[in-house]
Amino acid sequence: MAAQILDGKSVAANIRASVKMRVAALVQSGVRPGLAVILAGNDPASRLYVRNKVRACEETGVRSQLHEYGADVSEQALLALVGKLNADRTVHGVLIQLPLPAHIDAERVLQAVSAAKDVDGFHTANLGALLAGRPRLVPCTPAGVMRLIEHAGIEVAGRRAVVLGRSNIVGKPLALLLLQRNATVTICHSKTAPLEAFTREADILVAAIGQPKLVRAEMVKPGACVIDVGINRLADGTLAGDVDFGAVKEVAGWITPVPGGVGPMTIAMLLENCLRAATA
Ligand code: NAP
Repeated sequence: MAAQILDGKSVAANIRASVKMRVAALVQSGVRPGLAVILAGNDPASRLYVRNKVRACEETGVRSQLHEYGADVSEQALLALVGKLNADRTVHGVLIQLPLPAHIDAERVLQAVSAAKDVDGFHTANLGALLAGRPRLVPCTPAGVMRLIEHAGIEVAGRRAVVLGRSNIVGKPLALLLLQRNATVTICHSKTAPLEAFTREADILVAAIGQPKLVRAEMVKPGACVIDVGINRLADGTLAGDVDFGAVKEVAGWITPVPGGVGPMTIAMLLENCLRAATA
């Protein structure tokens, strides 16, 4: 039997509607949540992501401001702007769109954002809080994956979860969130071999590696929940995830599409983080 599709677009739309109502209530009490987005360089994908984030803010009543720079912006200029935004009481969230141009130490700029305004959840104070089991502002993509799993009513406690990818923005924080929900978690990466020995054991399999269609049907345990974080642009211009959707959906119990799965959830979680930062 074909897998149930985890429709991130529709779950995210419900979350956005709820954020909109909560923002309206906050505005009534005299506070309008504000997000500042910093974009440097000319990466077309980054521009598209930023446009979607700013539009989502507008739709939900979060005030957004976009700070755009060319690829030749200096690190000093970015640090100065972050300092200014940290001090601005009308700005509750500061988001730095990655990647930054290569000559900039992205980590230094990210860590300069006040932890209280770090709506991406990348500051070591927020990652540390997550590690300690007291999450504050949680990275948006992993938070979105957990909400999708929760929404589908998929049992996590006691299940085997396998996360493919160990980045600080997706794989590692997601593994911690799954662990917090009492899954038994394995993290795989480019040196894991053979990958299928781990993936075949997974009740919950999350792919966050950036390799188109790497997860094939024979790598998946029948009935598993398969979450595809990957966004890969193919030579013909279409998008593909890290999972071979067409084949894997015949084996899995649940599966996310790309696009329309994790992507919209990431933006919905960003809006929730803005609201959280504005009410903290
Ligand atoms: P990243 O920083 O490049 O990390 C990729 C991870 O995958 C690394 O840990 C790498 O291992 C591992 N990896 C690469 N090839 C592998 C292989 N053949 N087998 C097993 N592991 C492998 O990427 P990221 O930022 O986490 O993003 C991952 C994907 O998710 C990308 O496609 C990105 O575009 C997408 N993404 C989507 C959203 C969304 O909202 N949907 C948000 C963020 C990212 P090593 O550590 O050993 O190098």
